[in-house]
Amino acid sequence: MSSRRRPAAASVSRAGDRLRVMGVTISHPDKVWWPDEGITKLDVVRFYADVAPRLLPWMRERPLAAERCPDGMRGQCFFQKSFPKGLPAGVPTTPIVAASTGRTVHYVVGGSKTTLIALVNLGCIAVHVMNCRRRTLQRPDWLAFDLDPVSGAFADAARAGRLLRAILDDLRVRSYPKTSGGRGLHVLVPLRPGPTQAEVRAFAQEVGRMMAEQAPGLVTTEMSRAKRRGRVFADALRNAFGQTIVAPYSVRRRPRAPVSTPLAWEEVDAKLDPARYNLRTFDRRLAGRDPWVDFWARRQRLPEIRR
Ligand code: ATP
Ligand code: MN
Repeated sequence: MSSRRRPAAASVSRAGDRLRVMGVTISHPDKVWWPDEGITKLDVVRFYADVAPRLLPWMRERPLAAERCPDGMRGQCFFQKSFPKGLPAGVPTTPIVAASTGRTVHYVVGGSKTTLIALVNLGCIAVHVMNCRRRTLQRPDWLAFDLDPVSGAFADAARAGRLLRAILDDLRVRSYPKTSGGRGLHVLVPLRPGPTQAEVRAFAQEVGRMMAEQAPGLVTTEMSRAKRRGRVFADALRNAFGQTIVAPYSVRRRPRAPVSTPLAWEEVDAKLDPARYNLRTFDRRLAGRDPWVDFWARRQRLPEIRR
């Protein structure tokens, strides 16, 4: 983010070597996380402090997973779901027993800026969120489609996204696209909580099948990678308890530090380069209107699909 935008002076203080943001002491603030771009850990802390008002509504009351890359682009990365310890005071967690293993997972619950900055301080570059809130784990409040272009070309994901939009529009279901920050597209549908995870997933799978039927050369729902053959994989299985997608406004561990960016459907274009929205350019995007501003006001019921 450019030097014009800095978190409010009140939230950042330097005393000697100690730098504090939202009450969190930032360790190794000058560590370089993106060597090619010269982006430091402190740049990422500042990015998240700036973007917090727009990001926090997508984390609020949601169990999350932290993608931790303590050495940025260079070292190892891992997804961490359970935080039994090691978090500063004031960062809430919720214990959830994993059905598969019977083990208790201590999920961080998003919502506060302190939680966000504490995670970044632990080397978390991207925040991943569930489709449900901590108190309603089996009743999602959004449905997510993850469109993965096997070709690696965003253009293909954009084409599949436009088809998905047309199908959802026909069903009178309103949807919201975002870049993943990688090569794909994520499409979210705000839900009035009611249907279970399984019901939401069944709807998403049916829509995925409709996409593949209407454009068999473009979209596939094949679970076998070998059979996807250069098409876009429409992944409906993100709609299950424990699954996540990267939160809107998350930075990704990729060249140029791209940001998962909410888009208007008109912007979903084969020519869009998703990396144009990145940590360095994002202040301009934030100054513009929010294409997802009415997301929560549009929570809806899922229609029955008759065919
Ligand atoms: P791309 O556009 O490159 O596909 P993506 O974020 O959609 O980026 P995917 O591999 O398609 O990446 O994964 C979809 C989502 O699944 C991610 O956003 C993330 O939340 C979750 N996910 C992916 N890999 C893991 C993992 N190893 N552990 C936990 N969650 C993961
Ligand atoms: Mn994806």
